[in-house]
Amino acid sequence: MTRSVLRPTLFLALGAAALAAGPAHATLRVVATLPDLAAIASEVGGDKVQVTALADPAEDPHYVDPKPSLLIPLSRADLLIVNGLELEVGWLPPLQASARNAAIRTGGPGYLDASVGVRLMEVPQTRIDRSQGDIHPGGNPHYMHDPRAAIVVAKAIAARLATLDPPNASFYAERAQAFVREAQAVVDAERARFAALPSAKRRVIGYHRSLTYLEDWLGLTEEATIEPLPGIAPSPGHVAEVLATMRETGARVIVQEEYYRRNTSETLARMARSEMVILHGGTRFAKGERYLDHIRHTAQEIHDALSH
Ligand SMILES: [Zn+2]
Repeated sequence: MTRSVLRPTLFLALGAAALAAGPAHATLRVVATLPDLAAIASEVGGDKVQVTALADPAEDPHYVDPKPSLLIPLSRADLLIVNGLELEVGWLPPLQASARNAAIRTGGPGYLDASVGVRLMEVPQTRIDRSQGDIHPGGNPHYMHDPRAAIVVAKAIAARLATLDPPNASFYAERAQAFVREAQAVVDAERARFAALPSAKRRVIGYHRSLTYLEDWLGLTEEATIEPLPGIAPSPGHVAEVLATMRETGARVIVQEEYYRRNTSETLARMARSEMVILHGGTRFAKGERYLDHIRHTAQEIHDALSH
């Protein structure tokens, strides 16, 4: 989408925004690209923030539709929280530019890249090119499936909210601490529960390379992915290889997010007599779900399938 397409609509969007005043007590307007980030910002900011998520959890975060309506919250935001590592590179930059809000420009006081400080996985060690698929050059960006990363993110959000709203700094810090304690309990409890499964049962097949952090946390081994390379659709030859791998390794569970195509997974599940786990793409933030409840639900679904 180009600037010229967005401009006339922005004019209308800003008019609508002026009418939609937030609650009087909300001091900071926060926009997060992904619902997981929005849920954590809401948890840390409590009633001092008003939080909007740009993407729906059922949308593939690589390909969110940059609807002009997303400009309304962006144009008024005090803080924009992004996943970073180029996950949003295909849709966020034009919105950011068209929102005409200097605060949330990359590097601005109201711009927070949540990946800073997260222990990253799959950071390319060599030059990457298109032959390797849609590799994210800064490292695997799908860290929000892992509550250990969410702990880092919650602390970073609290610190930034404190910078933007110093009188409430201790309020944010205390709420972040409460989140961290609960998250750590989830991290430990689920790890122990999965560790109790025999290692032969802890083998999965993924779709995209988006489960890396989740698998690392829960001690799972990904024997293959249905995409031959990130972002590349499976060919019949690759599907045959995945099927052979499933038979060789005994991996009986296919795990994928709800926004990926299911036809290949369904075929493989039938041929290998295995189960499919369709994960929520993120926290149902718009419905009031909490991030850690989403994470518990994710772990539960996988554990159920592995236990069969
Ligand atoms: Zn990806």
